Amino acid sequence: MKTIKELYKIGKGPSSSHTMGPEKACRDFQQRHPADAYRAVLHGSLSMTGRGHLTDRIIKETLVNVEVVFSDAFAEEHPNTLDLFAFDNDREIASDRYFSIGGGDILRAGEASVESQPIYPHRTFEEIVEYCRDEGLDYAGYIRRHEGPSIDEFLQTVFEAMETAVDEGLHKQGELPGALALKRKARSLHERARRETDPSDKRIAILGAYAFAVGEENASGGTIVTAPTCGASGVLPAVLLYARRHQGYSVGKLVDALAVAGLFGNFIKTHASISGAEAGCQAEVGSACAMAAAAHAHLRGHDLSAIEYAAEVALEHHLGLTCDPVMGYVQIPCIERNAAAALRAVDASRLAAHLSDFRKITFDYVVETMYETGRDLPAHYRETGMGGLAKRYKLK
Ligand code: SF4
Repeated sequence: MKTIKELYKIGKGPSSSHTMGPEKACRDFQQRHPADAYRAVLHGSLSMTGRGHLTDRIIKETLVNVEVVFSDAFAEEHPNTLDLFAFDNDREIASDRYFSIGGGDILRAGEASVESQPIYPHRTFEEIVEYCRDEGLDYAGYIRRHEGPSIDEFLQTVFEAMETAVDEGLHKQGELPGALALKRKARSLHERARRETDPSDKRIAILGAYAFAVGEENASGGTIVTAPTCGASGVLPAVLLYARRHQGYSVGKLVDALAVAGLFGNFIKTHASISGAEAGCQAEVGSACAMAAAAHAHLRGHDLSAIEYAAEVALEHHLGLTCDPVMGYVQIPCIERNAAAALRAVDASRLAAHLSDFRKITFDYVVETMYETGRDLPAHYRETGMGGLAKRYKLK
């Protein structure tokens, strides 16, 4: 696995694979090939949901004098493929193919990676657990040992960015951008939470309000943290802010919890996928739920096994979840789905405390299964806006 600094990216929404990745690809290409003019050809999911995900806007903001083409073709190598061409005096001088592989990361065709190299030596989660037991480490200690002392400062910044996204989202009113004309709901949910007297309903309203706040920030191009993606960026902040403001955990404890969540998200990213275009929403919101469940279980003082179990429960019960963004916007079902996953994450961590002694399914199993299930999903359920709710809405 690589550093968790590449998992948590602070940037603008609405999509890590459809805005952050293409932006990075365009910058990389421009740096290699300064030119008068460019053409960007989008394939597969990038083409089918690129307008709703603002892919064309970010490309036009990044490259000067660029023509953006939405192609009908699916590239065989990856569902999020982008071809870039550079021109000088109307003559093509260079071209490159890029893949936006999820979480804002990219690959250039023909190269192993344009990202950094792995820093973690273990290949399976079982090996990680064994190592932690032998060394007397918890998961946060495991992260610190491999990342070095600077990781705490980084995670503190990540937490602050998450907190800002929640607070920004809670204060805004009006509609989200786009043809769906969706009203923002975070603020009214939060007001409802304040009035609520039943503790269970209050918890639901608070977690929901926090997740909606970040989801709405993301949908409107605001600044969020990929956790692990833009589309799923509301789950972990909702759980962490709930723990901070309503359960009394210190910022120091939340930094530890962020490290633990980062380990689980990073593991999924490395050994499976966090991309909705590659493996459906189970890879985005399912992964975010696993991260948040692990974070919450760590805060509650669970041992290594119970934390792993919390993450496993959270991911397992998202298996098969399709990606079907209505009209290509990261709004329906995405925002509400973040809220539901935040609730599920807290429940998974509670369940794990009682059941982890009897578990048969490991985190390794469920991650492999998620990836296999994702690749088996028909293409129209993988961020094309052609199946599921997206198709039903179009038919009305
Ligand atoms: S449905 Fe899930 S995977 Fe698809 S865009 Fe929305 S949050 Fe991302």
